[in-house]
Amino acid sequence: MKITKFGGACLNNPENFLKVVEIIRDEKSKTAIVVSAVSGVTDMLFHAIELALKSENKIKQILNKIHKKHEFLIENTIYDRNFKKKVKRKISYKIKRLERLLYGVAYTRELTDSIKANILSYGERFSAIILSEILTQNGIKATELESEKIKIITDDSFENATVDLKETKLNFEKHVVPLLNKGIIPVITGYYGCTKKGKITTFGRNGSDYSAAVVAYALNSPILEIWKDVDGFMSADPKIVRNAKRITRLSHYEAAELSYFGAKILHPRTVEPLTELKTKIIIRNFYKDGGRGTLILPKGYVKKNIVKSVTFNNEIGVFRIYGPGVGYKPGIIGEIGNLLSQKGINIYSILTSQTCINLLINKRDLEKSHEVLNNLCGGVIEKFVLVRDIALIAVVGEGIKKRKGIAAKVFSAVAKKNINVEMISSGASEVAYYFVVKEKDLKKAVIAIHDEFF
Ligand code: ASP
Ligand code: MG
Repeated sequence: MKITKFGGACLNNPENFLKVVEIIRDEKSKTAIVVSAVSGVTDMLFHAIELALKSENKIKQILNKIHKKHEFLIENTIYDRNFKKKVKRKISYKIKRLERLLYGVAYTRELTDSIKANILSYGERFSAIILSEILTQNGIKATELESEKIKIITDDSFENATVDLKETKLNFEKHVVPLLNKGIIPVITGYYGCTKKGKITTFGRNGSDYSAAVVAYALNSPILEIWKDVDGFMSADPKIVRNAKRITRLSHYEAAELSYFGAKILHPRTVEPLTELKTKIIIRNFYKDGGRGTLILPKGYVKKNIVKSVTFNNEIGVFRIYGPGVGYKPGIIGEIGNLLSQKGINIYSILTSQTCINLLINKRDLEKSHEVLNNLCGGVIEKFVLVRDIALIAVVGEGIKKRKGIAAKVFSAVAKKNINVEMISSGASEVAYYFVVKEKDLKKAVIAIHDEFF
């Protein structure tokens, strides 16, 4: 068994849809496919929502654009006239439903979280239909499956949902396994699921990697192959470090930490469902012969000089909470965590001292956190400070916690460039540590560390 996932960058023109068919035709194992939306379509859906909230005037226009984009794909991949008609009809039907949702938003000027998620899910609905029909036309038995039909069940965090793995697995036994047993390839919509009550939820931008991992879990698949338009994980962001190298092998934990701390290659939660199952994840470049990339295995290995990659996140800011005794006040972190989580604000990390609690959170959540936590001021808390001009750098590699001298090497490389380290955390993870520098020093620091280890 194998799960094959195609990202939007592989689903961008007729030739590439046909290339997907060839990849699937060459596949020897039983396969289920997970798809993203066609490249650019999710962005168009976000835009459509914005327009609808202002007025109904532009809905037709943007829907037309979305419709045309998919018709063009059908036109140039499906040759049989009747077949083509049938597929176009299916797409038109979906477009109609999407249209109703958008007009609903325009008329009410209201957007619930689940209607938003529902609208955003259409990209994957379209691409699943088109791919499964192209496969069928090419003699490969396939059928599109929408997440709510096969019951990919999630909690109700509508823009960053978490799947109930156990329940979803049971549902797959009923709705997906029988198809596989008949030799039919399921083409499953990535990016979204639904609550127990059937309301649509999404897994956030680029969430179809997570969908693919969920499908791998639910079908007990030992292999998850993810096709992208890049080489896989790199020793650093090639846009900053020109001689960055592709990483051929990583452990589940290393991949999870790298994604968590900023590497954009994989959705940060992809590894989550797969550690227990020991699934092998293969990232492959759709645009390179042989699809070379990165292999992510349950068990890692220790590289000679430990560090496999240095990554960064410049979307992170620090929310500082000052007070003479904050470090010693029982329950305060729990209270802060509770208040923030009620508003859907995620805390990346916490560093505390006797007089200050530092929360690492997304920059866009800083103001909102301030509003939410404002009532706590008084008591032990004296004041808040919001720090925006910083960035986080993470150094990742198996063995980093145990080997002596790695931290010294990292920080002396940074110090030599005259860069001040604002905060450090090590020991929280077996395979990573991170530190915070001023945003203006970010590039220099990343290059210095990369030079030190590569
Ligand atoms: N189509 C969604 C997005 O663009 C999900 C994905 O591509 O993984 O974010
Ligand atoms: Mg995408």
